[in-house]
Amino acid sequence: MKKKTREYQICTRCVMDTSNPDIVFDRQGHCNHCTDSLNILSKPPLSLSKEKKKQELDRLVKKIKEDGKGKSYDCILGVSGGVDSTYTAYLARQLDLNPLAIHVDNGWNTDIAVHNMETVCKKLGIEMRTIVADWEEFRDLQLSFLKASTPDSEIPSDHAMQSIMFEMAEKESLKFILAGTNHVTESILPPAWSRGHMDWEYISAVQQQFGTKELKTFPHMDTKKQDYYRKTLNIKWVHFLDYVDYDKDKAKKEIAAKLDWKDYGGKHLESTYTKFFQTYILPTKFGFDKRRMFFSSLIVAGQMRRQDALRELEKSPYDKDKIKDEINYVAEKLNLTLDEFNEIMNLPKKTILDYPHSSSIGQNGKAMRLLSKIKRGLSSG
Ligand SMILES: [Zn+2]
Repeated sequence: MKKKTREYQICTRCVMDTSNPDIVFDRQGHCNHCTDSLNILSKPPLSLSKEKKKQELDRLVKKIKEDGKGKSYDCILGVSGGVDSTYTAYLARQLDLNPLAIHVDNGWNTDIAVHNMETVCKKLGIEMRTIVADWEEFRDLQLSFLKASTPDSEIPSDHAMQSIMFEMAEKESLKFILAGTNHVTESILPPAWSRGHMDWEYISAVQQQFGTKELKTFPHMDTKKQDYYRKTLNIKWVHFLDYVDYDKDKAKKEIAAKLDWKDYGGKHLESTYTKFFQTYILPTKFGFDKRRMFFSSLIVAGQMRRQDALRELEKSPYDKDKIKDEINYVAEKLNLTLDEFNEIMNLPKKTILDYPHSSSIGQNGKAMRLLSKIKRGLSSG
C-alpha cells in the first residue's frame, strides 16, 4: 500500500501525531486515539466513583475466592518486574487473594526485572513459577520478525506470555487471570505500531518464511484454542488495575517503599530486547516512538501534563552515549554481525498485511482500530 506523504499534524489534546499513518483528527484538532480513550474512561469500571469501584472490586474478589475454594491457588497472575504487574500483585495480596505468579523468561530479562520479581513475590508470599522459553527457538523467531521488517517484533513475547497464562489457568482449573494491563497507562495502542499479538497465523507464517527452525515448544494459541479458553472454559483476563484509582507515580513510590521494587526508567523497559526494540529500532527505522502513546494515555487519564510530555519527547528515545554498546550486545546475542544488523535496519518496511494473517485483520482504518482492542479483547466478559 503506497501512501501519500501527509502534512505533519499533532493532536491538540494528547501528543499523538501523524507518525501514526492511521490517525484521524476532528475539527478541534483532537485525534481518534484520545477520543477513543476518553470513551473507554467514561465507561465502567473506570468511570465509577471510588466507592462504587470498591464495591465492584469486592464483588470480583469474592468471585475469584469462590472459584479458588479447595484449590492450591485462586487465580493466575502474570509478572514481569514492571510497575503495573508488581502493583497488581501487591493489590491482590492486600485483598487476601492467593495467586500463582507466572513469568515467562524469554532470555532478555534485565537484572532489575529479576530482582523485582523475586523480591516482590517473596515479600508478598506469592509462589512464582518461571517458564523458560527454548532460547534457540525463540531467538530464531525474533530474527524472523526482524527479517520480516514489520514493526511487530515484540509480539512473539506477548503471544507466548498470554498463551502460558491461559495454559496455566487450565492446568490449575482456574477461571481468572489477573493482569497488569489496564486502561490508565495504556489506553492508546495504535495498531499500525504493533499488530497481530494474538494472530498465530501471522506469527507462524513469518517463521515459516524467514526462520531456520521449526517452532516445537514455542507457547502459542490459534483462534480455536483462544475460543476454547475463553468460551468453553470461561477463563477471564482481568484488567485488575481498572478497579482501583490507579495512579502510576503513587504506585511506584508505594511498591518501592514497601517491597524494595526498583525503577528501571520507562514503560516496558524491564526487558533488554523490548527496550532496544522500542527505543531504537521502532523510532529509527519505522518512525514510531512509543513514548507518544504512553504519554498520551497518561495525559488522557490526567496523570501527565501535555507540555511535560512534549518536553520529554524532545529528548532522544535512546541514550546516545550507550546505543553503540546496546547495538553490539543485541546483535551478538542474536548471532548477527553488525553488517547483518544494518542490512535488517535498511530493509524496506512492511506490515502484517504483507504476510498471511488472520482474516479479522482488515485494510480499512475502522477494522484497524477495532484491532487495537484485540489485545484487550481477551478480557471481555
Ligand atoms: Zn489525541
